[in-house]
Amino acid sequence: MTLTIGVDVGGTKIAAGVVDETGRLLARGRRESPASDPEAIEASIVELVVELRAEVGRPIGGVGVGAAGFIDASRSTILFSPNLAWRDEPLRADLERLLDLPVVIENDGNAAAWGEFAYGAGRDVDDLLLITVGTGVGGGIVLDGELRRGAFGIGGEVGHLRVVPGGRLCGCGNHGCWEQYASGSALVADARIAAVADPEAAADLITAAGGDVAGITGPLVTTLAAGGDAFARSRLAELGRWLGEGIASVSAVLDPARIVVGGGVAAAGDLLLGPLAEAFGQHLIGRGHRPAPEIRPAVLGNDAGMLGAADLARRP
Ligand code: BGC
Ligand code: ZN
Repeated sequence: MTLTIGVDVGGTKIAAGVVDETGRLLARGRRESPASDPEAIEASIVELVVELRAEVGRPIGGVGVGAAGFIDASRSTILFSPNLAWRDEPLRADLERLLDLPVVIENDGNAAAWGEFAYGAGRDVDDLLLITVGTGVGGGIVLDGELRRGAFGIGGEVGHLRVVPGGRLCGCGNHGCWEQYASGSALVADARIAAVADPEAAADLITAAGGDVAGITGPLVTTLAAGGDAFARSRLAELGRWLGEGIASVSAVLDPARIVVGGGVAAAGDLLLGPLAEAFGQHLIGRGHRPAPEIRPAVLGNDAGMLGAADLARRP
């Protein structure tokens, strides 16, 4: 059975694992991710792969890397990344030279979509939309059982749909992109703004943040919300509404059978997915007169991208 290595490069960490064809993880490793330094990220990927190869001691057929950016159609170059420092980065060529293994680069949303499709919450459908909610908002589209990347490899960039004309400036250079309102980063930014506007309502969150709104983080909001804090819950509900409305628009184009919501913020569970599903139901076109896609949380959690990238490395 061919083993491959999947690597998921996130905003804060790089995760890698040796995976077999059934999606079983044989070994894993991780490193902090120096988001502003492409060379250091490359060096960390090489270190992780070398370490894992030594640990497993069996032949490795290739390496798949999921990264948050626009990847060219040949799955070689990171053309641009709105939230990381990559610009025209020939990551595939660099890694192949350093590792002496075949390498493919994939968008992180595409890799996670493929992971959930192959091994997770989308195993039983042919048409899947994955939305990953973290630093940005990513997408991955599987239609008729195939990952769809478009003509130039850049399809599925749902985070940059314009949802507010003249709205917040995005890392992509445009204004009003969906990820400026519906990402984990937006959750934090909006929670800080709301906490300054109403410190009384946000008192427990501010205390938990060490007395300073600047200390508010996504996991803190989720933890307090899980404990019943009304302010934290309202922040997650607001994020859920932004997501649900946007996903309804994307569904109007793609008509998926299933929508899988992943990324760090998905850990909030029903406190996020409840309001998301409600907003989705209120905005889905033709509602009441058509079958509605099912919305599910990602089941592979943080491993979706890594598992998907590993399997995509097997597919030329
Ligand atoms: C990027 C996508 C990425 C997503 C999630 C967006 O800002 O444009 O390429 O998939 O963030 O990381
Ligand atoms: Zn944008």
